[in-house]
Amino acid sequence: MLRKILIANRGEIAVRIIRACAEMGIRSVAIYSDADRFALHVKKADESYCIGSEPVASYLNIYALVDLAAATGCDAIHPGYGFLSENAQFARACKERGIIFIGPDAEVIHRMGDKTEARKAMIAAGIPVTPGSDGNLDSVEHALAVAETIGYPIMLKATSGGGGRGIRRCDNADDLQRNYQRVISEATKAFGSADVFLEKCIVNPKHIEVQILADHHGNTIHLYERDCSIQRRNQKLIEIAPSPQLDEAQRQYIGGLAVLAAKAVGYTNAGTVEFLLDDKDRFYFMEMNTRVQVEHTITETVTGVDIVEEQIRVAAGLTLRFKQHEIVRRGYAIEFRINAEDPQNSFLPSFGRISRYYAPGGPGVRTDTAIYTGYEIPPYYDSMLAKVIVSALTWEDAIKRGERALKDMGLFGIKTTIPYYLEILKHPEFRAAAFNTGFVDKYPELVNYSNKPRPEVLASVIAAVMAAHTGL
Ligand code: ADP
Ligand code: ADP
Ligand code: MG
Repeated sequence: MLRKILIANRGEIAVRIIRACAEMGIRSVAIYSDADRFALHVKKADESYCIGSEPVASYLNIYALVDLAAATGCDAIHPGYGFLSENAQFARACKERGIIFIGPDAEVIHRMGDKTEARKAMIAAGIPVTPGSDGNLDSVEHALAVAETIGYPIMLKATSGGGGRGIRRCDNADDLQRNYQRVISEATKAFGSADVFLEKCIVNPKHIEVQILADHHGNTIHLYERDCSIQRRNQKLIEIAPSPQLDEAQRQYIGGLAVLAAKAVGYTNAGTVEFLLDDKDRFYFMEMNTRVQVEHTITETVTGVDIVEEQIRVAAGLTLRFKQHEIVRRGYAIEFRINAEDPQNSFLPSFGRISRYYAPGGPGVRTDTAIYTGYEIPPYYDSMLAKVIVSALTWEDAIKRGERALKDMGLFGIKTTIPYYLEILKHPEFRAAAFNTGFVDKYPELVNYSNKPRPEVLASVIAAVMAAHTGL
């Protein structure tokens, strides 16, 4: 087993990995930028090292991180999600220094991180893929010609994109002409690559993704699917496991397809195969994420499998502990990404100091976060502050539990997406489990909730003011 792991990340996912290490008797090493010196992962790890003054670049300094891992006697690095998690060069640098990269092989990361290469690999494996360009586009003329043959609307996408950025829908040739340069410059800025491609836009699809686990001994299994159709600007807000919109036959089919896809590329460790489901019940491969996913939590909740622990065990060379038929699901889990954003102000980031925080609790509630009362949210990173995960035996009960948990949560000093999620939970289409990726745009009025504080919030504010005045 591994003895010591460096966590090349920050925030809630760093804390999540530290927790897995603690349970497995593995020493954890945290890294942090100056801006993160008061961050929770720094306090929670067994050892912590400052890696620079650059808020973001510090976490991307491949050689500094590998050197630090070697110098502190780590036998492995866990990359989390975002940052270097899908960077093949990083995986390779680890290997060259004799440090285990907790993820698939560098070659697989490289191949699947490139969306056009991934499409080619999937086509070769017989997996259904959206019609699109054979590879990257050379020019706007090339783009227009391909779009003409597959038909509008099309999606123009950054080949090495992620996090919902570098994607534009184009409804006609004018749109495509207008967006072509824009996507290229977005891609160059965000991902350091100007490569773009296009594929047919599936209008109002459902986003269905399958969690995969594979070891180095030829075993590949899936942990069923998640429904991530509740998105805004191609970014996930609420995720559900399993999808309440699939029947059992579709569930088995998509699970099998994902295993086939993973095997076709020699996949190892945890990964996610993302599909779109159209209104004629056809599935199309969209992309593969070669890392732990933000929403791995809901799969853990319904299957009882600790995905991060499994990642570490697989990286250590152990065999998967579960056979496919041993994976059982129970009930539904919903994850809410609590973002520091103001839904009533175009979801503008709302950074600042968290004046008071307490986590929701009670049965069927899990909170993954790295915030605490008094924490000042640095403006340099993701706006996701916390993930609230609820579960229950039925879809209806999971919704009720979600409402209860979100109301239970106390998070003051900044604006968050909590009140918006409460509106979504009330919506008949959500409750009837009949929604697609168009949901958020279809119901813009859901941001028109009242800002009047709830009675219990009011009472606690009054109590705080009284206490301050009387010195109690
Ligand atoms: P998930 O795929 O796990 O649902 P997201 O797509 O929301 O997660 O991405 C999670 C985090 O990782 C976000 O902070 C996002 O900006 C970052 N991220 C994802 N892909 C990339 C990428 N290719 N390059 C840079 N950052 C990325
Ligand atoms: P990222 O790497 O940023 O996660 P994806 O390729 O997974 O990018 O796409 C993100 C989201 O954009 C999807 O979940 C979906 O809502 C939308 N999307 C992507 N491709 C298409 C498509 N061809 N048709 C319709 N929607 C799409
Ligand atoms: Mg994706």
